[in-house]
Order: sequence, then C-alpha cells, then structure tokens
Amino acid sequence: MRPIHATVSLSALRANITRLRQTAPDSRLWGVVKADAYGHGLSRMLPALDAVDGLALLELDAAVMLRERGWRKPVLLLEGLFESAELEVATQHGLTCVVHAEHQVAMLEKARVATPLPVHLKFNSGMNRLGFDAAGVHAALARLRGCANVADITLMTHFADADAPEGVAAALTRFRAVAAGTGLPACIANSAAMLRFPETRLDWVRPGIALYGCTPFADQSASELGLAPVMTLHSRLISVRELAAGDRVGYGGTYTAARPMRVGVVACGYADGYPRHAPGLAGRGTPVLVEGRRTRIVGRPSMDMLIVDLEGIPQACAGSPVTLWGEGLSADEVAAAAGTVSYEMLCALAPRVPVDVIDGSGR
Ligand SMILES: *Cc1c(COP(=O)(O)O)cnc(C)c1O
Repeated sequence: MRPIHATVSLSALRANITRLRQTAPDSRLWGVVKADAYGHGLSRMLPALDAVDGLALLELDAAVMLRERGWRKPVLLLEGLFESAELEVATQHGLTCVVHAEHQVAMLEKARVATPLPVHLKFNSGMNRLGFDAAGVHAALARLRGCANVADITLMTHFADADAPEGVAAALTRFRAVAAGTGLPACIANSAAMLRFPETRLDWVRPGIALYGCTPFADQSASELGLAPVMTLHSRLISVRELAAGDRVGYGGTYTAARPMRVGVVACGYADGYPRHAPGLAGRGTPVLVEGRRTRIVGRPSMDMLIVDLEGIPQACAGSPVTLWGEGLSADEVAAAAGTVSYEMLCALAPRVPVDVIDGSGR
C-alpha cells in the first residue's frame, strides 16, 4: 500500500478543548467544525467533541448528519439559510441560524414553521463581509422580536483582525455600542480573540483552529499556547538517490546540486494536499522530518511525490518514516514556510489519503 496516511488524535482534541475551556471558563463554547472539521473528518472527530456546548458549521448536510448521529446540543449554521426551502430542515433538526442579511429576516417572517428557531444576529464590526451595520441590527432586531418563528436571539460579530489589539479594540467598541440596551447574550470570539483578549469571552466563544492544535498567531506557536496537534501527516521514502554536483532535481529543475548529495523521494504530493508552492532548498526551504530528524524539501513538490535532502541522516533509506506535518513538526511552521496558513493545509488534506483515528494510549 502507498505509505501516505494521516492520523487524527482524539485525545489531542480533548486536551485542546480542555485548554480552551480553562481559558474561558464562564463562556459556553461552540466548537467550529466547518469544512469537515477543518479537514479532520467531522464524523470521526465527533466522539471527542462531547465536551463542547454546541457545534458550528455552515454545511446543512453535515448539520443533519450530526443530528442523525445523535448530537442533541445546539448546532449553529454560520452563514444561516441560503434559501427558504432549508427552513423546514432547520426547524425539524432544531438548528440555530445566523441572520446576517435582510433577505434572511424576510425569509423567517414569511415562513410558517412548527417550532421557532433560535438565531444569532450578526453585526458587521469592520470585516465588511457578512452582517448588518448598527442601524440594520436594530431594524432587524425589532422584526425578529416580532416574528413568531424566532425563538431566542444572540448577538454576534466576527473580527477582521482578531490577533491585533487595536483591531479588536475598535471592533469591540462598535459591538458594545450596538449591544447596549438590547439585553441580548453575545458571541464574538474566534480562537485568536478568545486566547488573547479576555474581554471578548462573552456568553459564547467560537474557536476553530485552536481545537485542532494550531495557532492563530504569527508570533506565538501552538505549543507555547499549550495546544497539541490533532492531525499528523505521515509517509515514507520510496526511493533514495545520490546526486552529483550539477544534477538538477524535479520538474523544471528548480534546484541544482552544488555538490554531491543524497536525496530521498517521499510518497506525498500536492494531490495529497501538500502545498505545491512550498519552497525547496533553492528558496528558504520547507521543513520535513525524516527518521524523526529535521530536514528540508528539495525542488518543487509534484502531484504524487516530493524530494527531501538527506544530509545528516545517513540511516535514511527506502521505507524510512517521514512526517510532513503534525506531531514533532507543527503544521503552522510548514504553512508559514509555504506562504499559507495551517487552516488551508488541514482543509486541503485529499480524500485519497487514508486517515486513522488514534484515541488515548495509541499516541
Ligand atoms: C471559522 C469561523 C470561526 C473560527 O475561527 P478560528 O480562527 O478557526 O478560530 C469563528 N467564527 C466564524 C464566523 C467563522 O467563520
């Protein structure tokens, strides 16, 4: 069998949830599990998610799956409903809906549903993506309060700069002005905000990336935050070769050996979800572990393979274990080298990569 596989650790996920709970002990916690739990597989992560108070995502089919799998706690649809035909499904399954635009208010007013829906009313605090401005929030609130199809209302916003003190302070000032006098519960913090800014830990918090053991910050690592990687991407060397000075490596020959060197070929490429733009040795290089030792990739990753430098790892041979990211090498570090973020790499794990679930002592 092709040696690439990912492992996902339920115990790491549980530990991260505990860590986040300790950070915001007075807030209820939405576990953000959109994009199939950031590429980890929502279904397989579910057994480790019972310590959160609700699950937040935006795919209706996944929300229904959660109910079918017996998830009884709240489920939040982060983009709300896209069309009125979805109202019936949402009511039937008791889903909480974000309301971010007027057409969603109108949709609720026109409907006749058996059970009123809880909603999260979204304020645009400066991201200018989804949500009402201040006047719009008050107008929508009046209508939602008068709507028989609406149960309890929570006020929410999403930060454009959740890791920057000035950005959070400015957005928070706007949010407080809107929330004042409404008496509504509030939900505003993603991972970055809740980890760094205590004043954002309101009735609910909404961490995503931190659950999976990655950092939302450029200046603080996941391990410094006390977070453990949930996904590790493993493979092996499938070939080893000696290069002579002047030999070029891979498509386009972007790397030329300056002297004799040993390289290994790893069964992992961009069709597995590895970032194609990860720079090789000709650039800054992208870290990788071979036999548990750190080295760097050489040349440009191709669809199914990438090449690594074996200098200083004489024991490396065909069959040697390789870690692309995860335990021992944070996805954050690989992402930073490749000019992306861990979010994108985790979500991009390809369906062709088999995933093993590890629980407890397996780690
Ligand atoms: C994805 C998302 C989150 C989680 O953000 P992280 O940075 O992963 O913690 C929170 N709120 C909303 C609205 C989101 O879309």
